[in-house]
Parts: sequence; structure tokens; C-alpha cells
Amino acid sequence: MNYKAPRGTHDIFGINALGLNVLEQKARQIFIKHGFEEVRTPIFEDASLFTRSIGEATDIVEKEMYIFEDRKGRKLALRPEGTASLVRAYIEHRLDISFPSGKFFYSGEMFRYERPQAGRYRQFYQIGAEFYGSLSPSADAEIIMLVCDVLSSMGIEKVNVHVNSLGCQKCRPLFRETLVKYFTSIDDLCQDCLRRLQTNPLRLLDCKIDSDKFINVPKMNDFLCDDCKEHFNLVQNLIRSVNCTYIVDPKLVRGLDYYTRTVFEIRSNALGAQDALAAGGRYDNLVKELGGQDTPVVGFALGSERVLMAAQHSGFFSTLNKNEKVFIAIADQDLISEAFAFSIKLIRNGLKGNNDISVFGPVDNKSLTAQLRFADKIGASKTIIFAKAELGEGKVLVKNMIDKTQNAVFIGQL
Ligand code: ATP
Ligand code: MG
Repeated sequence: MNYKAPRGTHDIFGINALGLNVLEQKARQIFIKHGFEEVRTPIFEDASLFTRSIGEATDIVEKEMYIFEDRKGRKLALRPEGTASLVRAYIEHRLDISFPSGKFFYSGEMFRYERPQAGRYRQFYQIGAEFYGSLSPSADAEIIMLVCDVLSSMGIEKVNVHVNSLGCQKCRPLFRETLVKYFTSIDDLCQDCLRRLQTNPLRLLDCKIDSDKFINVPKMNDFLCDDCKEHFNLVQNLIRSVNCTYIVDPKLVRGLDYYTRTVFEIRSNALGAQDALAAGGRYDNLVKELGGQDTPVVGFALGSERVLMAAQHSGFFSTLNKNEKVFIAIADQDLISEAFAFSIKLIRNGLKGNNDISVFGPVDNKSLTAQLRFADKIGASKTIIFAKAELGEGKVLVKNMIDKTQNAVFIGQL
């Protein structure tokens, strides 16, 4: 039986594993500068947490969740996104009372039963952050700039920042009603649109099949109440003031129900159909809806695999430093313990003060030629050879694997 990774999942190794690590580190450094603290939540939660927060009539809840029962018949789901879990933790630990203006970030695997394609997987990584307790447009602007900074730290400069406002409970109902009237007047809508027209009419705006038919479609901007209008204008003024180029995109809606006011998405021209690197916005009612104090939140999530694809495209991977590889060889079999002790010392102290090295060997029962071949194969830049004659004088042979020159050097000088 030949096993393969389950459909829609992938193994991350080599340069991609290094890239993912660098992305997570850079994001963490930027989060900390902005005063965000890390939260790690479980990979599974009560399924109803997601149904309740994300919304029954969303793609995620309708068809993408991995739901299972545990041995006691509890209905659990692998997390499809990070916000619901974070809000659950925020309320459970009563941070809504002790830490109402908390700033938190997370990173980890998410699970969605989607049709796999480039940039779309069933298990994928997200990094996200949530800023609790601020109604101020500066919180929205800070989140947008934070994402741009994370992308820029990965060498991704050419992005399209799309922003929109979805209004609030006061002004959205009339827009929704007007939209339903508008869409009802349009012939031959696709199956998805027909279904969503009843449950989630805003989603029709970003339908890839029907969008060409929507001429003169009503715009939320024309329906925003004065407060929402002012908020949206201020968000734009703030991001403009730090030279962020953006597009107001009236068709931008989010797949999750909990958004209010600002929504945004950051797209890359370098990617194909799945061009959204990150998305987010404000959700002022979610904490209260899940049983906490009335606490506004603004946040985002980025798709790590897509960010890595864009980073690779911009040439960032070639700047990733890999440690210099050093191989420890033995010319005489009975020197294995001296060579082993030396390799551990090298790992602990570095080679001539250089700690960015990776040490391989020693191995026994192999000819010196075979050991040198192996050193070449792993890309070692140096091989340090333990041989009886030299060791008698306190020396080892240092072979440069690139130009193949070799010198006897006192061990103490390494
Ligand atoms: P899309 O429109 O691409 O399906 P979405 O609206 O479902 O995205 P969000 O739930 O807002 O996306 O997730 C934020 C980010 O996570 C996306 O912008 C994308 O980069 C990434 N992402 C979402 N779904 C997947 C997936 N199945 N595989 C890989 N990355 C994903
Ligand atoms: Mg999706």
C-alpha cells in the first residue's frame, strides 16, 4: 500500500519550511512592536462555536467544516479560521473585563473542506491578529498597516489593498433589502446566487460567474449612515497619511457573517485565481453575540502559503540564509569518540565564533572517500578530518570542499 498525504493537504519541507518559519518570525516581531500578545487555542472546538459566529449561510459552515463526534458523542470541528476561537478564549478567560483593550495574535493550521487547487488547500496555515475594545478608525488603520508591514518584511511590496464598508445594523438592512430587489430583477442567476439571494444577498456581489450581469448594482457607500460614513472616511485618511495606496472596492464583501463597517482584502498580482493574501475587517457585535461584554474588534488573517508563493515570486527566497554545513570525518575508525566529542563542541560553540553552522557526522564503518562523497552530497563547505598522524600533534585536517584544498590546523584554533 502506497500512502499519500490526504487530498488537499501538503507536506512542507526544504526552502518552504524555512520560508514559513521566517514568515512566522517576522510577523511575530511586527506584532510585538504593535503591542500584540500571542494566544494559542485548540485546533478543535465545539462545532456550534463556528456555526454561531461565522454564520449558517456561509460557505464555511454550509460545506467546508470538518465535523466529527468524539467518543462521548460531542460534536466537534477542526477550526476553519482563528477569530471564533480567539473570541471564545477572550470571553472564557474574562479578558473582556480584565483586559478589554487587548491585542492578540495567533498562527497555525486551519481546515476547510474545499476543492483543492493552487493556493487553496484543506489544511493551510494562517497568521492573524485581533484588536479588541477600540471603536476608533485608527484601530482599523493600524491593522491594515500591520498586514502591509508583514508582507513587506517578506519582500512583497506590490499589492492591491481593497477596502470597503459594510455599514452597521442601522444602515445595512435597507441596503440588503435594496440589493435583494435588484438581484431579483436579474434573469438566470447561477445556482449559488439563487441560494444566497435568500440567505446572504451581499455575497452575490463577489460572485465570479454572475458579476458581469450586475450593472448599476446598488453600492453600500450610498447607504452608509453618517457615523459609518465618517468612520470609513477617517480610516481612509489615516492609511493615506502613511502613504498606503488603496482602492475603494464596493464589491468587496467577506465570506463570514460577523463583519460590520470596515472590510479589506490584500491581493497580489503575482498569484493566479487565488490572489487574496490576507483579509480582515471590523466585527463590533461578535463578542456580545457569543456571550461577552459589548466589545468591538478589528482583525485580519493572512494565508501563509499564499504569502510564501508571493514572496518566492518576488525573489525573497534567495535571500534566506541557510547555515554553512560542516562535516566531521574520520580517517581512522578508532577516532570516532574524539570526533564525536569535537562535533558536539562545535555545535555548542560554533566554528571560529561562527554559530550559523550545521554540523554533520561523524559516521563510522565508512571509507574516507565515502565520507567525503557524502559531505559533497549534503553541500558541506568544509570537512574536518580526524586522522591519527595529525591528531598526535594536536591537529586536524580542514578540507575546503569547494576548491578541495586541505590544511592541518591546531584543534584549539578552530
Ligand atoms: P477565498 O476568497 O480565497 O476563499 P476567504 O474569504 O475564504 O478567501 P478568509 O477566510 O478571509 O478567506 O481567510 C484569510 C486568508 O486565508 C485568505 O485571504 C487566504 O489567503 C487564506 N485562505 C483562505 N482559505 C484558504 C485555503 N483553503 N487554502 C489556503 N489559503 C486559504
Ligand atoms: Mg474561502
